[in-house]
Amino acid sequence: MGDVLEKAMRQEGRFVDEIAQAVDIPLSRLRDALDYRSELTCAELGRLARVLQLNEVGLCALGENSYPLPICSGLPFVLHALRMRHGVGVVNAYVISAVGAERGILFDTGPNLAALLENWPPTIKGIDSVFLTHIEGEHTGGLCDVVDYFGIKSAFVPHGCHPPCGEAIGDAVEIKWANIKVQAFSTPGHASAHNCYRISVANPTGATALLIAGDLIFAGSVGGSYFSSQLHRKNLRRILNLCAADTILAPGHGPLTSVGNELRYNPFLP
Ligand SMILES: [Zn+2]
Repeated sequence: MGDVLEKAMRQEGRFVDEIAQAVDIPLSRLRDALDYRSELTCAELGRLARVLQLNEVGLCALGENSYPLPICSGLPFVLHALRMRHGVGVVNAYVISAVGAERGILFDTGPNLAALLENWPPTIKGIDSVFLTHIEGEHTGGLCDVVDYFGIKSAFVPHGCHPPCGEAIGDAVEIKWANIKVQAFSTPGHASAHNCYRISVANPTGATALLIAGDLIFAGSVGGSYFSSQLHRKNLRRILNLCAADTILAPGHGPLTSVGNELRYNPFLP
């Protein structure tokens, strides 16, 4: 809750005392909520949602510690989530492979090679490609080590960043790997160079797709808009509207969710 309110205030460029007055909540109660000790009621959160242009239902659910998460199943390939400790939270990398296959493709590399290998799925013996959502220590700390370790030429990185072992790909670039199609989307906002990747298969047609979202969006929140809140909001809508509602959403932090779930409840999608 504190995280969501802080990001929303920053996006709107508003100060806490000004907001407290506008929504008729004592400043100390609002400060407590920002310090992760929220006792705000749904009525108070509703007033905050209107002033900060947030999704009222989702904000109230977060306030009650009951943010809904969907059952994420039905992918026509295997998704291995590598959850690595990062500060007080968790940072995710993902491996995708065909059912029963020993090779896969990797999305983000975590804080370093050791952390990645500690969480490595035992059935996966090799990697054919690495894709990065954005360059940030917790997501791409060991990039060149990972590229070396798996014997890959270079990783695919978003347009606008130039790591020594990366090759930039931008909007609408498609990369085929066996039966799997990876589509890159340029989504600056959290960072100036940021990609999301939609993964789908040609067969069966209409099968559930996957969106590797990096720090564009999390279940019940978004990444900080460190580069541009305007671009962040715009790209968030654009990407979610491009995806079917049952698309499984794999974020850079926190649990899996779905596009439909976030369109319905995410505080930042009013
Ligand atoms: Zn991050």
